[in-house]
Amino acid sequence: QSKDAGRNTFCFFDASMNESVTEHLHIASGLRSALAAGELQLHYQPQFDLHSGRILGAEALLRWHHPELGWIPPGKFIPIAERSGLINELGSWVLRQACRDAQAWRSDGLGELRVAVNVSPLQFRRDDIEREVAQALLASGLPATALELELTESLLVADARNIGEVLQRLGAQGVQIAIDDFGTGYSNLGYLRRFSVHRLKIDQSFVRRMCANAHDEGLVRAIIEMAHCLDLQTVAEGVEDSQTLERLHAFGCESAQGYHWSPALPADAFVEFVRDRQAVAG
Ligand code: C2E
Ligand code: MG
Ligand code: MG
Ligand code: MG
Repeated sequence: QSKDAGRNTFCFFDASMNESVTEHLHIASGLRSALAAGELQLHYQPQFDLHSGRILGAEALLRWHHPELGWIPPGKFIPIAERSGLINELGSWVLRQACRDAQAWRSDGLGELRVAVNVSPLQFRRDDIEREVAQALLASGLPATALELELTESLLVADARNIGEVLQRLGAQGVQIAIDDFGTGYSNLGYLRRFSVHRLKIDQSFVRRMCANAHDEGLVRAIIEMAHCLDLQTVAEGVEDSQTLERLHAFGCESAQGYHWSPALPADAFVEFVRDRQAVAG
């Protein structure tokens, strides 16, 4: 994405303003107006069924093109949005936009694709998360079973009781729950039995190294086997080559995403990507 950003903007941002107070303030104030100004977009990274090779859907990933700083990675602005409270507004927008886009894919005949949305722990802990999800589904017409929420382990470890009830009710509606970056967070796995969770997303740090490092391969394999013992499915993130893909498939991993297929694409490019593949397959 840095390619189509204005010349030098990305480098300028990374090299000279990294981690500085100025940067923080600049981002925090810019973010406030970014939503209204249409500077925020959702890009979609395709996810694949490793058994059939077909596209299952996509993960929605937030992108911000700042008028002066250029493309700012979500790893920079999401934490700032969390600290300033803006994450709630941002998160609702993401949820509504992702549901709208996913319903459009269905109406356009792309098939029964699902969309995975990242939800910040702060956003999830709010009282009205269930209402927000329900409204996003209702307004878009997207079936609940086509929506997956990606949550982090830290959320499930703190605050356990209340979260459990919310997950139960979301699950009862058909909403899917995935644990993002699995394996990098807390080590108490008891929450996996207590909570209504459908999928573990194996963190890309293990997946990317699994063909070069036997310990990483062992971890990936153990996560997949544990998931199956608990009736959970797995999604591997960060698959960059066919060797990794083949090994994941051999271990029984159900689905994956990564640069091996595609980075996150603007919404219209994602639609084209799906159409191209369907044309080849059909
Ligand atoms: P994540 O949810 O774990 O997303 C996966 C990240 O890995 C994405 O980075 C994606 O572009 C990148 N990635 C995917 N495949 C590959 C690959 O094969 N190789 C490599 N090297 N990287 C790959 P991105 O888009 O920069 O997002 C970073 C993080 O920002 C996300 O991690 C997520 O935690 C957060 N984020 C993004 N969008 C949202 C959002 O709408 N809401 C919230 N709350 N967080 C978001
Ligand atoms: Mg994610
Ligand atoms: Mg992840
Ligand atoms: Mg991650």
